[in-house]
Amino acid sequence: MANNILKNELFESFANASDNIYIYVCDMESDLSRWSKNTVDYFGLEGEYIEGAGAKWMEHIHPDDRALYLKDIEAVFSGASDRHSCQYRAKNKYNDYVWLECKGSVIPGKDGHGVFAGIMTRLDNQNKYDPLTHLLTGYEMQKYDFSTGRGAILLLGINAFRKINNTSGFLYGNKVLVALAECLQRFMDKNDRVYRLQGDEFIVLSPNGSKGKLREFFKSVNDYCTNIRGLKSFSVSAGLVSYPEDGTDFNTLMSNMEHSLEYAKEQKQEWIAEFSEKISQRHYRASLLHEALTKSIYNNFEGFELYFQPILDARTRKIVECESLLRWKTPEIPDATPYEFIKLLEDSGEIREVGFWVMEEALRHAAMWQKEYGNISVSFNVSYIQLLDGEFIDKLIAKARELQVDPRFVMVELTESCNAEDTEMLSRQFGRLQELGFKIAMDDFGTEYASFGLLHDVSMDVLKIDQKFVRGLIREGNMTDMAIIESVVDMCRRLSIQTVAEGIETEEIQDIIRSIGVSFLQGYLYSKPVPADEFERMIRQEQS
Ligand code: C2E
Ligand code: CA
Ligand code: CA
Repeated sequence: MANNILKNELFESFANASDNIYIYVCDMESDLSRWSKNTVDYFGLEGEYIEGAGAKWMEHIHPDDRALYLKDIEAVFSGASDRHSCQYRAKNKYNDYVWLECKGSVIPGKDGHGVFAGIMTRLDNQNKYDPLTHLLTGYEMQKYDFSTGRGAILLLGINAFRKINNTSGFLYGNKVLVALAECLQRFMDKNDRVYRLQGDEFIVLSPNGSKGKLREFFKSVNDYCTNIRGLKSFSVSAGLVSYPEDGTDFNTLMSNMEHSLEYAKEQKQEWIAEFSEKISQRHYRASLLHEALTKSIYNNFEGFELYFQPILDARTRKIVECESLLRWKTPEIPDATPYEFIKLLEDSGEIREVGFWVMEEALRHAAMWQKEYGNISVSFNVSYIQLLDGEFIDKLIAKARELQVDPRFVMVELTESCNAEDTEMLSRQFGRLQELGFKIAMDDFGTEYASFGLLHDVSMDVLKIDQKFVRGLIREGNMTDMAIIESVVDMCRRLSIQTVAEGIETEEIQDIIRSIGVSFLQGYLYSKPVPADEFERMIRQEQS
């Protein structure tokens, strides 16, 4: 009988649901209970099946919490209550107490005796020690008194941790976290403290330490991370503050460190940034901008506009295409650049909404111009995160049908493709578009954002060579850039991929680019991005 209740498929699937959820069932008549494997492992129990578990589990409970626990559980067993629900601390196999929220209830059986079943959730954000690395948690750090004394603090984050997790798996990601925790402890001074925050972030607190000391520490850590046995090389970034200079309470210091870490990750050069007035200003500006952006989106995309930049056939030097480029004006911050506000939209996920608007506007103009002027192609930019679900592609196909746009003259440019982790998904989604005749371009080829890797996995129609490369062509003695572009163009020709050179500003560069055999030309030499009516004037002028 007991076996039937305790051997249950539902139990099996529940038991594997999550790392920090522990479950048990107990046959109340025989007092035989079953505990999920992770419970046995984490709390060091004698086995999956335990007789008289009540008393044994009691030994794990913190002495201060036992009375509370007993009262709650006795109410269930005496029949006074049908539910057990309380929070208490329990000792794990490392002899650390962790906070648990325990909820259980009695399920009455047919023959009078019932089953007691429950779920214990580990409340990690209240725990003193992080269960994975056994470091102190951020919760513990909040208790530290920063209002007296002085010292320095380093906030570390693993670069591209999401990518590590996605490409090598969750378990591998955990190994990286554990290795970094060990490394931090190895290099820290005797009086320093190391904490693990959520995700891939760690703190090193150095009471009486200096920023200079932590900088040295950071260097040693990064050197070490390139060469850990059994792990691929990885690197960390850091934000650095000192107290009382940069704050005297946890929240201020924490947010100043977060902004510095963000800055360090963007700069990418040193990978470490000390909190400064400049960082504080940048953050302030970003939050103003973000607020104004959200307001614009909410007000029916007020202030957003598409500009169009002509793209010429390299042989005829006639306009055959245009790239749609997003503009946004706000009186609050009139000098906000597309790079700036698009990054904010990407970070907040609002680029999805704005992206739908861009796509519709671009298609609307494409429909108009195809009717009026023949086959002018229109391209528009799409960030990887816009493609994470199929909705974008569905809407694009539907909208193009509705507006009767010929898909062969519509091109999607994938920007910042470095973030493209799921190339299989991309390949599938782009495949759907290509079957219908839409064209796909890889933007910014030659930068860290886009390179050969993606080209191998995803079929592209067009490759846009980044401006940095194009402009580099006239630097004296720059044979390398020249050779690289030549071989890229050559490779594309063999793969039937067309090429666009971006950022052509002078006749000299134009001539070099044409001699290499690039298919299309784009740049200020021909025109800056302009509003729709101005672009129309340009086409009309050319056609007359
Ligand atoms: P991008 O896709 O590489 O666009 C080309 C950028 O180069 C544009 O900057 C354009 O104005 C600029 N440009 C073109 N020719 C020249 C030239 O000869 N010299 C110089 N110095 N610059 C030239 P813009 O409009 O500021 O856009 C910046 C970036 O913002 C774009 O780079 C693209 O990555 C992103 N972006 C723009 N519109 C959208 C959009 O609707 N959606 C998304 N996701 N990203 C967009
Ligand atoms: Ca582009
Ligand atoms: Ca580009």
